Amino acid sequence: MNLSHNYRMHRRNFIQQLSAGLLLGTSSSQALAANLGKANGLPRVIIVGAGFGGLTVAKYLRQFSQNKIEVLLIDPSPSFVSSPMSNLIFSDQFNLQQITFSRHAMVKKYGIRYIQNSVSRIDPEQQNIFLSSGERFNYDRLVVSPGISYLFDDYSGIQDKKNGTGIVHAMQAGPQTLQLKKSLEAMTNGGVFAITIPVAPYRCPPSPYERACQVGLYFKKHQPKSKILILDANPDVTSKSLLFKKVWANHFPQMIEYRNNHTLMDVDPQDGRLIFEVQDDITADVLNVIPPMRAGDIAHTSGLTNINRRWCGIDFLTCESTAISKIHVLGDATQGADLMPKSAQIAYGQGKACAHTLTEILLSQTLKHQPHYDNLCYSFMTESTAAHIKTDHRYDESRKTMSVIQGSQELSSAPTTEDFKQGVKWAKDIWQDILT
Ligand SMILES: Cc1cc2nc3c(=O)[nH]c(=O)nc-3n(C[C@H](O)[C@H](O)[C@H](O)COP(=O)(O)OP(=O)(O)OC[C@H]3O[C@@H](n4cnc5c(N)ncnc54)[C@H](O)[C@@H]3O)c2cc1C
Repeated sequence: MNLSHNYRMHRRNFIQQLSAGLLLGTSSSQALAANLGKANGLPRVIIVGAGFGGLTVAKYLRQFSQNKIEVLLIDPSPSFVSSPMSNLIFSDQFNLQQITFSRHAMVKKYGIRYIQNSVSRIDPEQQNIFLSSGERFNYDRLVVSPGISYLFDDYSGIQDKKNGTGIVHAMQAGPQTLQLKKSLEAMTNGGVFAITIPVAPYRCPPSPYERACQVGLYFKKHQPKSKILILDANPDVTSKSLLFKKVWANHFPQMIEYRNNHTLMDVDPQDGRLIFEVQDDITADVLNVIPPMRAGDIAHTSGLTNINRRWCGIDFLTCESTAISKIHVLGDATQGADLMPKSAQIAYGQGKACAHTLTEILLSQTLKHQPHYDNLCYSFMTESTAAHIKTDHRYDESRKTMSVIQGSQELSSAPTTEDFKQGVKWAKDIWQDILT
């Protein structure tokens, strides 16, 4: 795949989509028509969310079933925006257009019905979903891959608890990424940029530390006296700890400061003030508050968050919810197994495994597929080096969960230019896989 050509194509599509106003939008009448009956009496799987998990399961369900399963894919977003690589926007190594892609070619190629809308309610008794437009669709199996939502309830300084207006987390690439970048650019040399990190689990454990490096690269070029404070509620850096600490000490001395055990209690965005459980308040010029998270709202309101009322428990053999039958949950919304982070790579692995099992369940009623997938995560640490972590996971019949395969763990001994190259390749490969 010629990626620079593809970027140009994606960029063109992106602009066309914006000017058209609606990407792949199924009009109400089309959507209603889609609901009138299942195509040729095929079993129907509806997928809520066309991010990493949803796109993967949609494509592979059609492929593995040889088009004998009808697939409806629903997402309100006009295009797919990849959070992986979005931190590199802060250092000007990537831009938003380069990580924004049309879903059009993929859904057309595989004969997937795409509806640009939001699912507002699930009725598991009748096996129906309802769109925010009011339309109803019946399913044989439902896959829910809605990513994450944020918990703003504890912050009294934030009036709008539903949307968290005033908080810039940038944990879903898009407008918030650009907003945060603009705030950086508006800082004066010598200012303070503060990142707060919630207690794990949260989306992509190394991403806030990677962000500190990428913001640091921007500061080195444009504001060498500015500082980055990482205020972490965890007792230590949650991923690639020694590697990040070495890079901060060697490449960003006096610029990046890491403080552990900083649990954020409240935030005052107007005054740029952070209020902690134990430590003194901190004021900064730019706040990048990453709030605690839970499974996406639709999973929560549908009763799927049966683990601490935050995450969805699944049977790892089938990805079926342990709360509601015939609903399968993927990706960040799920409660992970051992050493399984909330990552695009895991959402992709689960999506493929779920496509295998749903094909077996719906077409042959025999379950043979044993899930086996990996986590592979690159963190970009300097302008030319990155480091990676890898684990292989296999379904363990005796434990009824995914176990890490002994000896499969890899961790870079130091950031390298080779890992930087491989990290960019990883992103381009996964985009190509799920979008073509
Ligand atoms: C800065 C950053 C860097 C990252 N870097 C990496 C990395 O290097 N490697 C890696 O593996 N992972 C990385 N990740 C993590 C990765 O982005 C997530 O783990 C991945 O996106 C999870 O996939 P998902 O399908 O669960 O959710 P998403 O990809 O978030 O998809 C969820 C989709 O569901 C849709 N949706 C939500 N609610 C509804 C509804 N009610 N109706 C219809 N649709 C709905 C949303 O619009 C969205 O499109 C990074 C994340 C961040 C923030």
